[in-house]
Amino acid sequence: MSHDFSIARLGEATIPSPIPYASEKGTDMANYVGDDERIIFNPALSRSASEQPVSGQSLLEVAGPRRNIYFSPGHVHAGVITCGGLCPGINDVIRAITRCLWYRYGVRRITGLRFGYPGLLPETAEPTIALDPDVVDDIHKIGGTVLGSSRGGGTRTGEIVDALERLNLNMLFTIGGDGTQKGALAIAEEIERRNLRITVVGIPKTIDNDFSFIERSFGFETAVAEAAQAVAAAHTEAHSAINGIGLVKVMGRESGFIAAHTALASHEANFVLIPEVPFSLEGDRGLLRLLERRLDARRHAVIIVAEGAGQDLLPDSSGSDASGNRKLVDIGLFLKDEISRHFADRGKPFTLKYIDPSYMIRSAVAAPTDSVYCSRLGNNAVHAAMSGRTRMLVGLVNDFFVHIPMAVAVSRRKQVDREGNLWRDVLEATHQPMQIGQG
Ligand code: ATP
Ligand code: MG
Repeated sequence: MSHDFSIARLGEATIPSPIPYASEKGTDMANYVGDDERIIFNPALSRSASEQPVSGQSLLEVAGPRRNIYFSPGHVHAGVITCGGLCPGINDVIRAITRCLWYRYGVRRITGLRFGYPGLLPETAEPTIALDPDVVDDIHKIGGTVLGSSRGGGTRTGEIVDALERLNLNMLFTIGGDGTQKGALAIAEEIERRNLRITVVGIPKTIDNDFSFIERSFGFETAVAEAAQAVAAAHTEAHSAINGIGLVKVMGRESGFIAAHTALASHEANFVLIPEVPFSLEGDRGLLRLLERRLDARRHAVIIVAEGAGQDLLPDSSGSDASGNRKLVDIGLFLKDEISRHFADRGKPFTLKYIDPSYMIRSAVAAPTDSVYCSRLGNNAVHAAMSGRTRMLVGLVNDFFVHIPMAVAVSRRKQVDREGNLWRDVLEATHQPMQIGQG
């Protein structure tokens, strides 16, 4: 399948970049990327493709500083906004954007927009804050977002663009998940309708790692590291009790990447339950009987459950949050109750410890690998915006930083392929059957 990865631009880039560039003898600080540099989206060759390697392949634009830019740095007024849930590394991204604009391009007007899209709306407007290298100096050492975040309000596109006009912004960086980037896309379209010269560049944030077309979202490695600690604690508790059961709930509304990676990182989980793989509790091959057998054999067990797993077993919550996301019923508490009831009914002694580390994970300080990633995402977002590119996200694909059109990135989610390598490795690590119960 080929995708349209062409990137929109506000206009031609005719201004020489102020980033120092010295060829041959001097240092090459800019390492400019040519506008024609592309990578192949899917490097796997099928037999038919190998006969004609590139035709029909989707190509992605390589990110990085351009020799010519669209905006004159002295005229730039950039805004940075963060929306949606917390994720390790948001402050690192804000810091990188600010520093790259300031030091690389000499931009002096950088404004932090507070508490997400609602902070731009008339009745919930928030005062903005000026960002400079001093303000952002130490922010990567703390979790959360120094700008504040929120949900809702993102669909009031016209009023948001009014606010951007009022603030005199010509550059907007949107740090947030699928909802945020859908909002950003609508904002960019409204900007185009009004014939304004404002670029909108997104930095995709999803702790669940479920943005399609993007290899690894920032904060994901930190999340797995933190989740692995929770699993280690659950394992210790389980191991130290008679028929000890450790149950850990991790993030993953639609995709079980954190659960799968955590299981592989710790090798202590016996059951991993994710949204992509349905399971049932009852029956000879159901979770409860499998758990019972595991306890009979080894006297302790560890379960990792992603928050979106097994929702079909639960009563429909039918509620949604301010952004319109479906509210999930707590699968962790449900499992805790069902497992407890099962063993109590059988008069079998057991100890169950339920750990939900979600908020500790979301608010964690980014691990060094994520910090590196965040700063490079932030830098590349700035280079893209300065070159006049708009309606796009920065991301990592096949180890290259690339530009991805917003419309393509939000078109679908990435999920664990239950017939793929990752899930196979998880099954090998846990020894759980391919199917738990009726599935
Ligand atoms: P995460 O899900 O990782 O927390 P997110 O960006 O998806 O991040 P949401 O709360 O869903 O978080 O959305 C963030 C912002 O985007 C909110 O202000 C919301 O109103 C807005 N938004 C969500 N969906 C849309 C949409 N379809 N169109 C316009 N705006 C949207
Ligand atoms: Mg979302």
